[in-house]
Amino acid sequence: VNISPFLDFLYDSPTPFHAVENLENQLKNGGFISLNENESWSLEVGKSYVVNRNQTALIAFHVPKNLKAINLIGAHTDSPTLKIRHVSEKIDENVRLHPIEVYGGVLLHTWLDRDLCLAGEVTVNNGDKIEKKLINFKEPFFKIPSLAIHLDRGVNDNGLKLNKHNHFNAISSLVDTEKIDKELLFSKIAEKLSVKNEDILGFNLSFYDHQKPQTIGLNSEFVSSPRLDNLAMAKVATDSILKGNFSDEILPLVAFFDHEEVGSTSYAGAAGSFLEDVLERIREATKITVDDFYKIKANSVFVSADMAHAIHPNFREKHDGAEFPVMDKGPVIKYNTSERYATDAFTESVIIKLCKENNIPYQRYTHREDLACGSTIGPSTAARIGIKTVDIGNPMLSMHSIREMCSVKDLEYLTKLFDKFFVEYFSQV
Ligand code: ZN
Repeated sequence: VNISPFLDFLYDSPTPFHAVENLENQLKNGGFISLNENESWSLEVGKSYVVNRNQTALIAFHVPKNLKAINLIGAHTDSPTLKIRHVSEKIDENVRLHPIEVYGGVLLHTWLDRDLCLAGEVTVNNGDKIEKKLINFKEPFFKIPSLAIHLDRGVNDNGLKLNKHNHFNAISSLVDTEKIDKELLFSKIAEKLSVKNEDILGFNLSFYDHQKPQTIGLNSEFVSSPRLDNLAMAKVATDSILKGNFSDEILPLVAFFDHEEVGSTSYAGAAGSFLEDVLERIREATKITVDDFYKIKANSVFVSADMAHAIHPNFREKHDGAEFPVMDKGPVIKYNTSERYATDAFTESVIIKLCKENNIPYQRYTHREDLACGSTIGPSTAARIGIKTVDIGNPMLSMHSIREMCSVKDLEYLTKLFDKFFVEYFSQV
């Protein structure tokens, strides 16, 4: 497998804005036609389309001849990260510090002592228009230093205790206390965007690790990278729909949402209206009656794809003793009877049948009963659009760390599964 486009995508997508831009460009280069939410849509049979919302959520689909079902794959574009606060700097003695906001369930200690870059969206006053501009400083401007062991002697035995407010100011420069150059960072931003400082109206900027993603291991069998959760799933699904192996009866669709790491309730999140709005516009543009569209939805399946916890060999006690996935042994079907995952007997059967028929290994995951279970976009999307849903994902280690890991071969298994999923009809009888 050619892993380098995958690694490049992860590196060039430090924020949801960049991920959506890169995926959308890839789809457009592959013949998908761009739609805008603020224009009328006319769709043609046999053509493929892509639309984004807020530049952080993305939906792409293909219009079949005789629509009987929609097979959807969903993932999220956001990852836990540190964002720069609106009070964007403070001067302490002779160093410039940038207070941060913690976005999502960050594994905080992994962000210490890393060389950090900054990327995101900046909005600029352009006369009568507010213009959105993406920015990505690939230079390592920042660092959040850890406390030396001599000043915290018990740290290795007692555990590292971090206060998000006090201990997470990023250092960016030394300042001359005689004449402080205020807002140096914003001067750099303005310069990079070729605008004036005072024209910057708003921003949404995240830090990210300067180190590039790469394969590691004695046989290069692992990917070591930030944001595998969940850009790995979005990338595999996009590559799959781009192959263009479609059936005449199924509308294949990929949907990638923002804000999963903070609960999905937003304009561009899975609990928002984006997918529902797009489905309704597809119905209108293809002149399908409301009644027929209910029938189509009843025959449709949504695959919520999000990375899964492989068993950690150094912490086996944190996993269920009997049902645990390992890396390199195929996609994981996730179960939770409290509906933290949306899988049920019918939808798990969809995945198992596809795996069995196509020689794809698969595994199962249930969280320990005595630990609080995470969740995905699965349950909220299922509730919102009224389509049966299954939660799956590839096994990984170090989830929500600044540097995560998964296996290369699992990406191939998932690709094979997605390729087959888009063309199979799963009517429930
Ligand atoms: Zn995730």
